[in-house]
Amino acid sequence: MIELPMPKDCITVWNNCLNVIKENIPEQSFKTWFEPIVPLKLEGTVLTIQVPSQFFYEWIEEHYIHLLRKAIDKELGTTGRLEYSIIIDKGNDQSRPYTVNIQTAKVEFDKNAQKSNKINTSAKKKQDILKEYESFFRGIKFNFNYTFDNFVEGDCNRLARSAGYAVAKKPGVTAFNPLMLYGGVGLGKTHLVQAIGNHIRNNQQEKVVVYVSSEKFTNQFIEELKNNNLQKLTNFYLQMDVLIIDDVQFLSGKEKTQEMFFHIFNHLHQQGKQIVMTSDRPPKELQGLQDRLLSRFKWGLTADLQQPDFETRMAIIHRKLQSEGIELNDEIIEYLAHSIDSNIRELEGVIVSLMAQSSLNKLAIDLPLCKQVVQQITQASEKHPDVDVGIDLIQKVVCDYFSISPEILKSKSRKKEIAMARQIAMYFCKEYTNFSLKSIGYHFGGRDHSTVIHAIQNISDLRENDGDMKATVQEISDLLKGNR
Ligand code: ADP
Ligand code: MG
Repeated sequence: MIELPMPKDCITVWNNCLNVIKENIPEQSFKTWFEPIVPLKLEGTVLTIQVPSQFFYEWIEEHYIHLLRKAIDKELGTTGRLEYSIIIDKGNDQSRPYTVNIQTAKVEFDKNAQKSNKINTSAKKKQDILKEYESFFRGIKFNFNYTFDNFVEGDCNRLARSAGYAVAKKPGVTAFNPLMLYGGVGLGKTHLVQAIGNHIRNNQQEKVVVYVSSEKFTNQFIEELKNNNLQKLTNFYLQMDVLIIDDVQFLSGKEKTQEMFFHIFNHLHQQGKQIVMTSDRPPKELQGLQDRLLSRFKWGLTADLQQPDFETRMAIIHRKLQSEGIELNDEIIEYLAHSIDSNIRELEGVIVSLMAQSSLNKLAIDLPLCKQVVQQITQASEKHPDVDVGIDLIQKVVCDYFSISPEILKSKSRKKEIAMARQIAMYFCKEYTNFSLKSIGYHFGGRDHSTVIHAIQNISDLRENDGDMKATVQEISDLLKGNR
């Protein structure tokens, strides 16, 4: 009996190819470049595989052609061919991906074709190549004020800063690759990563450094996809010695942009190029980012930026004032550091407004002006957006109501009426402003935040259970609303 060969199916053929490939390349490369490939069909000796992007296809062709040839030879004989099906979409969830089949001379494994297709970076000088990419550099500029010198160090940012500095001195050489910095808004992420970029540009001019926000990166991707120019964009990023990409949380849900980033990331990382990223949350909370991308982020170092403590805030204010060439007395600086405690950008906002107010109205920057500006900036709590009051106004209204002076309200007096008035005022500060408990305490004669918690709790309880207190709170609340 003659045994007919079983018709081969594409999955088996591809798996056999993979076995050959696996033996010949590092595991990491295999995972990156071959695991995502899906075998689609086998027609005669033509095997069609699906690859996730144009870039992917070109990468495979460029780096693994001989290996593929070997595997295909073994499986399908010398007439065996490979066809690629590339999935492309518009970079967002709504648009359906469509497929482009590629069947060029390259799939014949023609050596010449392979050569001419190679991203030929060595032939030209880097600078010449970068000239070609000028348009991509547009709109992704550095802010030269963001330097390490201008970045105040504190407990809140020490690890991030020193890792950043190490990277800036030796990009791509330290274990901090990628370097991922995360933290809430206005805590200095952009400043720090740009400081890294500025430092490298100043000290290692031969290095090509780019800073791009993830939003810009995504827009570029969509734009060049439209222009049929994705390859050029990818090539642009592949030239970088240092790639700084800000706010990667923006890539969330943008599958195809992530795809491109993933490949750029792998390429740069394999070549020992430095990657720096920021995010507004820790990587494990980055939803909508592919796991394989997230797992890459863990290869290097992840450091967080926390809210600055009081001393750091003082130092930051000093530094800002110094750079603006103004001097303020310590009382004012302390007041500012106490009033704005969550966000450095907001702190800067107050200083800028202060300077504006002072020069517009030709006023000296003194404590009353400071309070006025802080009040404007911090007014209107989220809970009561209709009530625009600051701590000072609350204190004034409460004092008027109880016929006591603001001094006594802030004093150490434990007299029952005074203590009650103080607690009520604290309660309203929490209710109607955005100040933190600690700041509220500061504005009441430097009490600590547990005193404020106790006051708020006490008044809330009394308001529930005591008719008189309920009425008092209501009356003061009306006064405050009337005082808007
Ligand atoms: P993020 O990117 O985290 O939202 P930014 O880097 O934009 O925050 O910082 C907000 C502002 O605060 C910037 O103007 C920055 O210069 C300033 N800033 C943040 N951290 C510091 C710091 N440690 N020292 C000095 N300025 C800082
Ligand atoms: Mg930022």
